[in-house]
Amino acid sequence: MAQRYVRIKTTKGQTYYGLLQLSRNIQVLDAPPWLLGQSTDLELGPDEYQLLAPCAPSKIIAVGKNYSDHAAEMGTPVPEEPLIFLKPPTAVIADGREIKYPPQSQHVDYEGELALVIGERACDCTPQQAQNKIWGYTIANDVTARDLQRKDGQWTRAKSFDTFCPLGPWIVREISAGARLQTFLNDQREPVQSALINQMVFPPEVLVSYISQVMTLLPGDVILTGTPQGVGSMQVGDRVRIEIEGIGQLENTVIVRPPIKTS
Ligand code: MG
Repeated sequence: MAQRYVRIKTTKGQTYYGLLQLSRNIQVLDAPPWLLGQSTDLELGPDEYQLLAPCAPSKIIAVGKNYSDHAAEMGTPVPEEPLIFLKPPTAVIADGREIKYPPQSQHVDYEGELALVIGERACDCTPQQAQNKIWGYTIANDVTARDLQRKDGQWTRAKSFDTFCPLGPWIVREISAGARLQTFLNDQREPVQSALINQMVFPPEVLVSYISQVMTLLPGDVILTGTPQGVGSMQVGDRVRIEIEGIGQLENTVIVRPPIKTS
């Protein structure tokens, strides 16, 4: 199995990067691995930590309509160049944490996506240079309040609610070009989304190059590469699981976010 890089919080409240062993023990690193973190003498047992999202990005750049079959289901053409938007770092949650369904929306969708983790500062990169800036890969759910996306005419509110970016559970360094991405709802055996990541319109190195010509990417930043066909809504109580071959699976349950109390 590929090496799995995690970020954890210990029962004593410390946050570390580490390597997840087959025993579920964590070999603690002294820095993020993309900043050349080295193994320490500290090893934690399964009862001594919880997994956090595997990085703490300064920003999350997401790409819209990067699979032609998804663009078609949205009733729009494939963009001629990557269509990018931001999600705030405060939207990130770890594997196993709850997605909070906000009271402002009546239509919240899952979007299973391959996430790229940037390893070093990237500004004005060619696609060839950009390939070396991608440190690893993880899984994301680009949760979207579809009704608000349509109502607002731009995407900030719809994409940015707290908990709207499940990310993880860990990072791997390599992924095969033909890896399959699948999304499952609850106990259904048939996936609601199933695609090969090489069906993307703009591949990872092109996305990183394109974005780096707009904004400097920093170590630990995350790029969501777009979702394939089959997006659909989630209800409170639903469990959504996204699997990518060679990485693993990211699973989250939907709960209510109560409206604020006004007196
Ligand atoms: Mg998306």
